[in-house]
Amino acid sequence: MQTYRIAAIPADGIGPEVIAAGLQALEALERRGGGFRLDVTQFDWGSDYYRKHSVMMPADGTEQLKGFDAIFFGAVGAPDVPDHVTLWGLRLPICQGFDQYANVRPTKLLPGIVSPLAGVKPGDLDWVIVRENSEGEYSGHGGRAHRGLPEEVATEVAIFTRVGVTRIMRYAFRLAQSRPRKLLTVVTKSNAQRFGLVMWDEIAAEVSVEFPDVTWDKMLVDAMTVRMTLKPQSLDTIVATNLHADILSDLAGALAGSLGVAPTANIDPERRFPSMFEPIHGSAFDITGKGIANPVATFWTAAQMLEHLGQPQAARRLMHAVETVTGGGVMTPDVGGTATTKEVTDAVCEAIRGSN
Ligand code: ATP
Ligand code: MG
Repeated sequence: MQTYRIAAIPADGIGPEVIAAGLQALEALERRGGGFRLDVTQFDWGSDYYRKHSVMMPADGTEQLKGFDAIFFGAVGAPDVPDHVTLWGLRLPICQGFDQYANVRPTKLLPGIVSPLAGVKPGDLDWVIVRENSEGEYSGHGGRAHRGLPEEVATEVAIFTRVGVTRIMRYAFRLAQSRPRKLLTVVTKSNAQRFGLVMWDEIAAEVSVEFPDVTWDKMLVDAMTVRMTLKPQSLDTIVATNLHADILSDLAGALAGSLGVAPTANIDPERRFPSMFEPIHGSAFDITGKGIANPVATFWTAAQMLEHLGQPQAARRLMHAVETVTGGGVMTPDVGGTATTKEVTDAVCEAIRGSN
């Protein structure tokens, strides 16, 4: 029997609520039998830890995580702790320390959930957005001169490297190749930018030669928002820069009904280090403790984790259970239902137990 070591970091806000739900579903899958076991270790890192220790996690935090097979992450952020502390103190050191350069964000309209786009049915909207997660617009380079003066200048330099772009492009083509439609859309803004995104286009063309069975096209990011909205059926796998994919995946989440159903995986494709699986949403303090956080994004990212660990059958079983439950109308208020987190979770566990 294969045993996987999972590091669970529930952290802040609704993080603990959705991670508990996710772990309950994973336990139901283990019990259902599939030839694997999960050995879960919980870490109490996050804003509470910060209030006691003035750091979000211990100095050797990433070192402690190294031996795990995967990281199951909730959310960070608290009203009384600055964003740069929460984000740069916990989530980003893990992403960067483990070179999780591929951020994979599936979007699908689940049964029972109504898209704000009129007439869009489940099946019409089934995408995976691959976000470059290690460089680009968020590389933190630039500066400010003449601060506060009328002549102040601020620069924010997007850094694209040949190595960085090639590896994310290869990942995206391989992912597109593994999906039934074998369709990839490469997003840039290379008409208005002269260097980085021109190289991005060139590298896309170079890498495409390695994947002759993948049909691919290029879109400018502005036109892409229109295509996602008006012709969702025409898209399958999408690759974009750190900034562009950040924006496009919020749009994708909204079109699929709610942030509460959008999952993400921060992957080290070379498997040198553990990859990290989390819902896209943040700590959502407005609903923390009310018992109504939508656990679906966390179930979905748990399925991504199982897939990554080499348990695709368990991943499919989990997603099938989720679709059965949403299709049956058992949903939290953010997607139009009246159920609590616990009711949705219990229903998903029940569907897992009854699945074949
Ligand atoms: P952060 O600053 O960490 O991004 P946030 O407080 O801005 O956190 P988000 O998680 O980004 O909140 O989500 C924005 C809003 O969407 C929340 O305030 C909440 O109302 C809603 N929301 C997010 N996630 C969920 C969820 N899982 N279930 C229900 N509603 C959610
Ligand atoms: Mg937010």
